[in-house]
Amino acid sequence: MMDFRAAAQKMHQTIVEWRRDLHRIPETGVNTPQTEAYVCAELDKMGIPYRKGLGGHGVAALLEGKRKKPVFAIRADMDGLPIKEETGLPFASTNGCMHACGHDAHAAMGLAAAKILLEAKNELEGSVLFIFQPGEEGCPDGPGGAKRMLDDGAFGNPAPDAMAGLHTGSIWKDFVPGEIGYRPGGIMACMDRFEILIKGKGSHGAYPHGSVDTISIAGQIITELQTIVSREVDPLEPTVVSLGEIHAGTAFNIIPGECRITGTVRALNQATREFLARRIEEVASGVASSMRGSIEFKYGWEGPAPVVNDPAMTEELRLAAEKIVGPEKVREISRPSMGGEDIAFFLEKAPGTFFFLPGCNEAKGQTWPHHNSRFDIDEDILWIGPAVLATMAFDWLKKQA
Ligand SMILES: [Zn+2]
Ligand SMILES: [Zn+2]
Repeated sequence: MMDFRAAAQKMHQTIVEWRRDLHRIPETGVNTPQTEAYVCAELDKMGIPYRKGLGGHGVAALLEGKRKKPVFAIRADMDGLPIKEETGLPFASTNGCMHACGHDAHAAMGLAAAKILLEAKNELEGSVLFIFQPGEEGCPDGPGGAKRMLDDGAFGNPAPDAMAGLHTGSIWKDFVPGEIGYRPGGIMACMDRFEILIKGKGSHGAYPHGSVDTISIAGQIITELQTIVSREVDPLEPTVVSLGEIHAGTAFNIIPGECRITGTVRALNQATREFLARRIEEVASGVASSMRGSIEFKYGWEGPAPVVNDPAMTEELRLAAEKIVGPEKVREISRPSMGGEDIAFFLEKAPGTFFFLPGCNEAKGQTWPHHNSRFDIDEDILWIGPAVLATMAFDWLKKQA
């Protein structure tokens, strides 16, 4: 049987080169043609067939083993951010965008997983579908890359039966490079956007009795929304309702007839998410009508949804990770993140797990947070991700045989 640990370590330098090449050419949203071309060129060299142009510039590559089914999917996101890089690295980006979240490493690790599984093709008891996804960081003009790739059939023909994906960086700060973090159940939150448009009646500031004052209504709504979290949700259930924008008015002496509030909801499961969406609308509507106004409410269900890990697949991941880094370095993540990840869309279609590969090394000065112009990762971990992903895919397929 193939030793994926040794195989991944052997190709470490290649993975580093891939990561640096991708780091030089960050692209944002789903507009990632250069990144797509790079990934496709490497897949061509391996002789692994793929479909490209999915959801913009996403790639779905299919490695068939001894049998075609079942199918295990590995997802790697590959988009950068609109940040001007200030790392001073010799391979720093100069195009005004930056890989400031480690997705360059994810794509390189996805390619590496493909390469080492290709070497084990004749023992592989099914197929592995590699999803190289743009637009994880969101798109200004609609849904993110995962949803767009699914809408373009990334998970159709063949549809995966199981899946996995990872994130590197410093999301969970109590982990150090070389370890693996796993968590069954909710690991990241939904990141829904909502909008409350308050409608009243504009008037002269000196004659409030002729108005329906949307600023007064907004003040009450803002206060009452926080009581949903503090009074209606189980205190042991992680929940966030944050308001990010409030817009009203044009002059000091005009009571505005409209006020727009936007905010975000974070929850770790679908039931809490639905409860919050319903109650925000009910509370805002109730407060507005008690003050003679009304609201129009919009809730962005394309959020994405909470990232919920399948317990059985998470156990598969844990076993694979222990084979690669040893049991003492594989630890459960004690607290989920209230950040979001659009891998949730894929996990809704196939049971799987999203795990953490810590990648920021304080000893190497990698103390800058995600989405910072100085964010960097420790390249020494680059072999670990593909070794774990390949082991998990291979072992899971073998168990289904
Ligand atoms: Zn990010
Ligand atoms: Zn990210």
